[in-house]
Amino acid sequence: MPLDAYAAGAAYVDGRYMPVAEAAIPVTHFGWRRSDVTYDVVGVWEGSFFRLDDHLTRFAASRAKLRMTPDESEADLRAILNRVVALSGLRSAYVSMECVRGAPAPGQPRHPAFVRPYVVAFAIPWIWLAPPEMMARGMHLMTSQTLRIPPESVEPRAKNFHWGDMTRAQFEALEAEADYAILPDREGNVTEGPGFNVFSITGGVVSTPIRGGLDGITRQSVMELCEELGLPLEVRAIPVAELQAADEIFACTTAGGIMPASRIDGRRMNNDRPGPISMRLHDRFWEKRAEGWRATPVDYAAATEMA
Ligand code: PLP
Repeated sequence: MPLDAYAAGAAYVDGRYMPVAEAAIPVTHFGWRRSDVTYDVVGVWEGSFFRLDDHLTRFAASRAKLRMTPDESEADLRAILNRVVALSGLRSAYVSMECVRGAPAPGQPRHPAFVRPYVVAFAIPWIWLAPPEMMARGMHLMTSQTLRIPPESVEPRAKNFHWGDMTRAQFEALEAEADYAILPDREGNVTEGPGFNVFSITGGVVSTPIRGGLDGITRQSVMELCEELGLPLEVRAIPVAELQAADEIFACTTAGGIMPASRIDGRRMNNDRPGPISMRLHDRFWEKRAEGWRATPVDYAAATEMA
């Protein structure tokens, strides 16, 4: 297959490589019917993965939580991720790795323990959760009435597609003319939003929720940047009322890095513009990325070897 067939993205599904548009999972699989799937997303920026080891470690932990052991080893996963990026030729990419439960074989019990999980991976062009125009003006955030699914029901630290709460909250955001929702838990504390973690800054102290959300790898990077920049950091419960009164708020994720907000529930912060501490963290994040921080170069020659 000529490599330009992969220009829109390349995928791996259970042992086979293909253009991303051809990648599909069967409709009978538990991964689809029961959301019995876990995944992780690593970014490739200017030819290098960012914190690849951390993403692979988290993906392994997520699989263990869901009791999934696919055939592929850790070394295989590394090679597969490299190969889908190399096939696509993309210098900046959104790279997903997924472990999907299939369907029971005829005669087998309809129980997940009897079903083989398999690996899906793909690389597509880089995604900005906050496009440049939104980054410039700051995100408009709102707190939803929809509560985040409790960790006692679905473990948010195992990255998952149980997005019923997030999807409902996004329609609340649309009605409120906000860009994104932030979901509280039933104690009235902040958890996270659809695809991002949240930080709140009050009186120069940077805070992020201790539970109810994913242990985001960008969140981890922010915590390391706070240490480097000497910014006081607290990981604790953040009541929604505190977020609503914060000096600054930012969201963070692989697909976009650090994304400062300028509005929360209609209230304007920092003259309706991204706040100074958020921007300091944002700028340092991208400066360090350009310097090769935690970067693993993609081996693009791997594409021609297999073509
Ligand atoms: N929270 C949720 C629900 C997510 O889906 C994501 C990423 O997709 C994040 C937080 C941010 O995590 P990371 O920084 O590891 O991309």
